[in-house]
Amino acid sequence: MATSRESEVVALLEEARRVFHKEFGSEPTLAVSAPGRVNLIGEHTDYNDGLVLPMALELVTVLVGIPRSDGLISLVTTSEYVDEPRRVEFPVPTAEKPLEPGIPRWANYVKGVIQHYPAAGPLPGFSAVVASSVPLGGGLSSSASLEVATYTFLQQLCPDSGAAAMRAQVCQRAEHSFAGVPCGIMDQLISLFGQKDHALLIDCRSLETQPVPLSDPGVAVLITNSNVRHSLGSTGKELLTKEEFRRARHVVGEIRRTSEAAAALRASNYKAFGRLMVESHDSLRDDYEVSCPELDQLVTLALSVPGVHGSRMTGGGFGGCTVTLLEADAATRAMQHIQEQYKGTASFYLSKAADGAKVQPL
Ligand code: ADP
Ligand code: MG
Repeated sequence: MATSRESEVVALLEEARRVFHKEFGSEPTLAVSAPGRVNLIGEHTDYNDGLVLPMALELVTVLVGIPRSDGLISLVTTSEYVDEPRRVEFPVPTAEKPLEPGIPRWANYVKGVIQHYPAAGPLPGFSAVVASSVPLGGGLSSSASLEVATYTFLQQLCPDSGAAAMRAQVCQRAEHSFAGVPCGIMDQLISLFGQKDHALLIDCRSLETQPVPLSDPGVAVLITNSNVRHSLGSTGKELLTKEEFRRARHVVGEIRRTSEAAAALRASNYKAFGRLMVESHDSLRDDYEVSCPELDQLVTLALSVPGVHGSRMTGGGFGGCTVTLLEADAATRAMQHIQEQYKGTASFYLSKAADGAKVQPL
């Protein structure tokens, strides 16, 4: 099981620093971190102008680096789970020569943010190493954490111009235009503005955010990775009217559930919160049709454990993770039970609600 603590961020920074020294022959002078996230409730509502209730995780992506004066950008990732090469070099974009997406695909997330970055002055080149404890492609938004870490790093090189909410939109635009993923705005917002010990209720239409306390030591948030990823199901198909109707029913119901869940959390009514999670899962499975047998099994297994308040799939669906709200002292029991009974191999993350992006001391 991966638990994630401050000391793990320190260890990650240490690893990034070591790789930086090996690749570039000097010490990095700048370091930033940006978290992954789990969405507690409000699924498929972010790009439907609805409400979402994510929290930032203690799992983070870090960037360490130095500015350079030759107009070049060199990037290295320590991740094994990306396409080759793991080191790339390209010039700082200009009006005549903008950056374009290409190979390796992983660098597109960084390039997109650089290209769309609203620099208040000239952006220098830089060398940087990326390291992450967010699992890649697991539905905990390693992609947004990489974009937001990049944005926060660029702010250290040259300040940005404009409002804070625009930062999330720049990162979202990078994912749309450089990675080709038509994501909503939730992941980038929570990775930027998450608050320790709080979930964040986000209205995706106005981009207003409200922190909701989640610091009770008696409850825990358990993330279970199904470690499967199916290709898109019904969302890739042309929609029938009946399907559209059911999908709309999910969105309307999910927005209501999210608003009620935030109120339940404020009242420390975890039972009510849990019931709304289960309703959400059922609606994602039956109306939105984005669950899969593995996610359904993980939810059923979690719900059979005493002390579990609620459980649901989280993220886009078709694999990835479930999120479970439970009594803190039930966590070990729940992990054991799921590991024994799940037909695949599960991995677990127990995380407190953490802060958003940060400049890190080196
Ligand atoms: P998720 O956001 O759920 O983790 P995505 O498919 O949206 O999954 O994003 C994963 C992709 O983001 C990876 O395949 C890779 O291209 C890029 N990425 C994320 N983290 C890193 C990293 N630390 N180093 C390099 N690329 C990364
Ligand atoms: Mg992603």
